[in-house]
Amino acid sequence: MDRRTFVQAGAALALTGGSFSARAARSAKVVVIGGGFGGATAAKYIRLLSNQQIDVTLVEPDKQFVSCPLSNLVVGGSRQIGDVSRSYDGLARNQGITIARDYVTAIDPAAKTVQLAGGTTLKYDKLVLSPGIDFNFASIDGMADAYKQGKILHAWKAGAETVALRRQLMDMPDGGVYAITIPEAPFRCPPGPYERACQVAWYFKNFKPKSKVLILDANQDVVSKPALFKKAWEDRYKGIVEYRSQHKAVGVSADEGLVKFDVQSDVKADVINALPSMRASKIAVQTGLANMANGRWCGVNYRTFESAVAKDIFVIGDAIQVAQLMPKSGHMANNHAKVAAAAIVAQLSGIEPNPRPMLTNTCYSFIDDRNVVHVASVHEFVVNEQTFKVVPGAGGVSAEPTELEGSYANNWARTIWADMLE
Ligand SMILES: Cc1cc2nc3c(=O)[nH]c(=O)nc-3n(C[C@H](O)[C@H](O)[C@H](O)COP(=O)(O)OP(=O)(O)OC[C@H]3O[C@@H](n4cnc5c(N)ncnc54)[C@H](O)[C@@H]3O)c2cc1C
Repeated sequence: MDRRTFVQAGAALALTGGSFSARAARSAKVVVIGGGFGGATAAKYIRLLSNQQIDVTLVEPDKQFVSCPLSNLVVGGSRQIGDVSRSYDGLARNQGITIARDYVTAIDPAAKTVQLAGGTTLKYDKLVLSPGIDFNFASIDGMADAYKQGKILHAWKAGAETVALRRQLMDMPDGGVYAITIPEAPFRCPPGPYERACQVAWYFKNFKPKSKVLILDANQDVVSKPALFKKAWEDRYKGIVEYRSQHKAVGVSADEGLVKFDVQSDVKADVINALPSMRASKIAVQTGLANMANGRWCGVNYRTFESAVAKDIFVIGDAIQVAQLMPKSGHMANNHAKVAAAAIVAQLSGIEPNPRPMLTNTCYSFIDDRNVVHVASVHEFVVNEQTFKVVPGAGGVSAEPTELEGSYANNWARTIWADMLE
């Protein structure tokens, strides 16, 4: 065992309380759907925690992992998409995970099988589902067509669309308006839209100073780090950023460059970046796992992340119905994954899962290309309420944006990518 493997194995033991690996079921098969923050981490930690005894297949259609965290810097132009992209090869090479580059079209919870678009059927003993989110395009009239034509983007899954949004901003003449519409919470990454507004404002300030950023927010107020974001807009981006709360976009017209609202008058913009409301990804919904919030999110037993409606299926990441103050973040998905992985290995080894798991979260937001603020929290599983609650006094927010936090944010990204992919 080299030093890194030793350290990882130690962390793995700490997660479960220690004594399982020798007893881990040797022939058990786990299938993981989705190679994002949740799925890739779960696949790796099931291998680590079972001392490589459990057979793990990760199903992911994308050739490489592209990180949403830091992708707003690609929109702003201070990073390239290659800077936030990583290979899946390490999971196969270092952890012995089978990677199926395919797409799951159906799950049969009774037969315990997963159907792949390529024609293969995989059998599982335990299934981990971390498929992320899909969009309710119908929440914004005209969005589906405008999106199909590539005229109005969300760029809320990092990749080609992130680059396309960057291109729209570069093509926009100086003096133009960029408008971002934000749906009612909960949505993927609470600070993400406000960070994106900062990145576009940074670009305009430096390269297109006559241009404007309009934030059209369906919520009562900025959903995350409100004081820090508002101060940044006032101090650094005065005259560039305008924030409007309680503006719920109900329609868009790409040809007229309009965002439409129920009550307020229409807003004109050159680049419209509309975020439709979100829900658990299609495969979770079609399998009947999205049993909460009118069929939007998947209910889980928070102690293990096993689905509330299907035995032996564990749902993690953005697709779940969150506990109190739990953000839909990559950091959280990574933590869900470790709790679920430990519970799966424990169950397959015939031992009790950890009765009191803990989770942590830190979300960094870039205010410009270097200065960063963060919000952090610790969440403990409260046994008599069977849910996670924030630990009072743990965590907190930055006092102000600093370059030092910028270096923390870059290191956070490098560390979490390595934790999930190497
Ligand atoms: C602009 C932006 C900035 C962000 N910044 C941060 C940040 O700074 N810090 C932070 O912690 N979080 C951040 N986030 C949030 C973070 O990206 C998400 O919370 C995280 O990606 C959730 O992980 P997940 O595993 O649930 O989903 P994802 O990471 O989206 O992974 C889902 C995977 O499942 C695959 N998949 C879906 N359906 C299927 C299927 N049927 N078959 C096979 N595979 C399938 C997809 O291809 C995808 O790779 C940001 C998000 C955005 C949009």
